[in-house]
Amino acid sequence: MINKDIYDIEKISNGKYDIYKIYERYEAAMYLVCGKEKACLIDTAYGLNDLSEIVSSLTDLPVTVVNTHGHIDHVLGNHYFDRVYMHPDDKGLYREITDGFADMITQPWVKETYGEFINDIDPDNISFPDTEDIVDGDVIDLGDKELKVISIPGHTGGSIMLVDQDEKICFSGDSIIEHLWMFLEESLPADVYLNNLRRAVEILRENKTERIYNGHYSHKPLTMSDADAIISGVEKICSGRAEGKPFTNFAGSGMEYVFGEWSVLCKND
Ligand SMILES: [Zn+2]
Ligand SMILES: [Zn+2]
Repeated sequence: MINKDIYDIEKISNGKYDIYKIYERYEAAMYLVCGKEKACLIDTAYGLNDLSEIVSSLTDLPVTVVNTHGHIDHVLGNHYFDRVYMHPDDKGLYREITDGFADMITQPWVKETYGEFINDIDPDNISFPDTEDIVDGDVIDLGDKELKVISIPGHTGGSIMLVDQDEKICFSGDSIIEHLWMFLEESLPADVYLNNLRRAVEILRENKTERIYNGHYSHKPLTMSDADAIISGVEKICSGRAEGKPFTNFAGSGMEYVFGEWSVLCKND
């Protein structure tokens, strides 16, 4: 593992093209998937260090960015890149967040976490690109390597996942994850997510997916049986068979349901 400033970089591919997992100080995970002609950066974390430099140290290929959804910890590094794709249903969220960038970098928690890296960031000189649309079924062609887009509305309305069929990998963003956040204002009802999750997992099975890398806790990839465990947990919540307890955290409050290693944070009924 190479440590470079706040980024920890690890190669996760087994096949002929490189895939790198890039952690931003253990807060958020990004992935750089290379093909023969192009590379795709999946998410851009908080972008508080020069992400374009990190990416160009890993590949000479032209890079397009795909955001798995419009949350702050997945999009703020977009300003280092020209072409960014996102599902249209998260565009409003993206605008809200990027318009608030100047305020965000003065917040105490940002200074505490990233202080040494953000001193030379001038928000007046930063502009975020408009996103181009991607939707369910789209294919991102990297040259001899394709990433398929699966729409999975739930965590946010415009959440997507990407599948690399060659490597049998799914990049799941915050949609298949150990600690699933469904209590946010922009989250959809749990039963809507459940239907979308079931459909998405079916597609992953058709694609013979073995490893699921999410946008945060990806020190080890999840497996398809982990995805099944998350489905059965959410099924229990939706049918009223799960016991939850109230929680409050920095992002809001709701009901927390714990299933072994997993947890799902839902809205109050
Ligand atoms: Zn999120
Ligand atoms: Zn996230």
